[in-house]
Amino acid sequence: MAAAGINSYRPAALSDNRGFALEAAALTDKKIAAGEAIADLAGIPGAIKDNICVKGQQVTCASKMLASYRSPYDATVIEKLNALDYVSLGKTNMDEFAMGSSTENSAFQVTTNPWNAKYVPGGSSGGSAAAVAAGEVVWSLGSDTGGSVRQPAAYCGVVGLKPTYGLVSRYGLIAFASSLDQIGCFTNDVEDCAVMLNAIAGYDKKDSTSVPQGAKDYKKALVNDVKGMKIGIPEEFFGEGLDTECRKILDDAIETYKKLGAQIITVKMPNMKYGLAAYYIIAPAEASSNLGRYDGVGFGMRVPGKDIVDMYCKTRSEGFGPEVKRRILLGTYVLSAGYYDAYYLRAMKVRTLVRQDYDKALSQCDILLTPTAPDTAFEIGKNKENPLSMYLGDVCTVTVNLAGLPGISIPCGYKNGLPVGMQLIGSFPTGEVEI
Ligand code: GLN
Repeated sequence: MAAAGINSYRPAALSDNRGFALEAAALTDKKIAAGEAIADLAGIPGAIKDNICVKGQQVTCASKMLASYRSPYDATVIEKLNALDYVSLGKTNMDEFAMGSSTENSAFQVTTNPWNAKYVPGGSSGGSAAAVAAGEVVWSLGSDTGGSVRQPAAYCGVVGLKPTYGLVSRYGLIAFASSLDQIGCFTNDVEDCAVMLNAIAGYDKKDSTSVPQGAKDYKKALVNDVKGMKIGIPEEFFGEGLDTECRKILDDAIETYKKLGAQIITVKMPNMKYGLAAYYIIAPAEASSNLGRYDGVGFGMRVPGKDIVDMYCKTRSEGFGPEVKRRILLGTYVLSAGYYDAYYLRAMKVRTLVRQDYDKALSQCDILLTPTAPDTAFEIGKNKENPLSMYLGDVCTVTVNLAGLPGISIPCGYKNGLPVGMQLIGSFPTGEVEI
């Protein structure tokens, strides 16, 4: 089945890389003509979310604040891709500073869902997901702080992986909420996903939260057999709020795993119900601090004022969009002396409880299976003026970031012509295939 609404499809890219892509392709052609071995990603078109730094290229975070900013250096993932002769066709659209679930918060343009142009592609990495779903590229990079790779992957019917926190370097990823952010990838299938993870994973001394580890081959780990695997179904993810048709499609997927020899068990995760609230305290708290650097001095936009405070105010008022301002206000509030204990500290306690729920559930099985989102993609404009209903759509993904675990969204069916995603959540990695 191919994405259908392509005629009225609106662009996934914020900028194109024509010159760079043609140069890279010419280099690969030369190597092939000379009979030289070519690297894993040579000649395979990809795209990069516009919050990942590529030397000399724009990195706008889809914000007016960084509209004219160009990165002076490569992110570590880009250095790694460079070594594999990667070809990037451009930087992809996103919610401003990765805050959002629909890509509607971009200051520059709306990206539509390639399956039906009336619907959002998801977010915040909506451009990266749409570009793969529309067949514009074979792979793309995104970032996932609370679901921004997995949810758009589900909405666009592609594979989206959020690696374990610390597996992929965050150096050169423009920070949203540093204890949750992780670079991930979009592909058409899990094999390509493993190739991309091989390309971007690995210890980096430039990222203090990077986890020291030996090289692994994720492609070799794909054994194409689930016989004997124990799959845990957390009932809390399948309750009220999950669309009934999506539930049926997920039940069919569970049945298929059973037929293939997997063992299905039910697990309990009683603290999941607090996860969304905790995320929407912790993520804005970290964001309010990370975004303090956009003051008209160090990076990007400056709006002159009568004195320095006036310049700060004008720059931040004009540079940031409404959702980013909402998060900064919320974040500053929950970190303020009078409310720190009541909100931030309690949210951090919930984070520990969430992590304990995952530890316990994953001690009873090999992997957890949940929906990626409570429903399929929603219509453009439907949640734009209602942040709470937008936030509610993140309920299945945010707890995975709070716990730092790996999660992947895999297409598992269609409802009214729109893709439905299934999320698989793993434990901290042990025993992958060492090279
Ligand atoms: N939708 C979530 C938010 O707006 C997650 C965003 C993300 O993962 N970058 O915070």
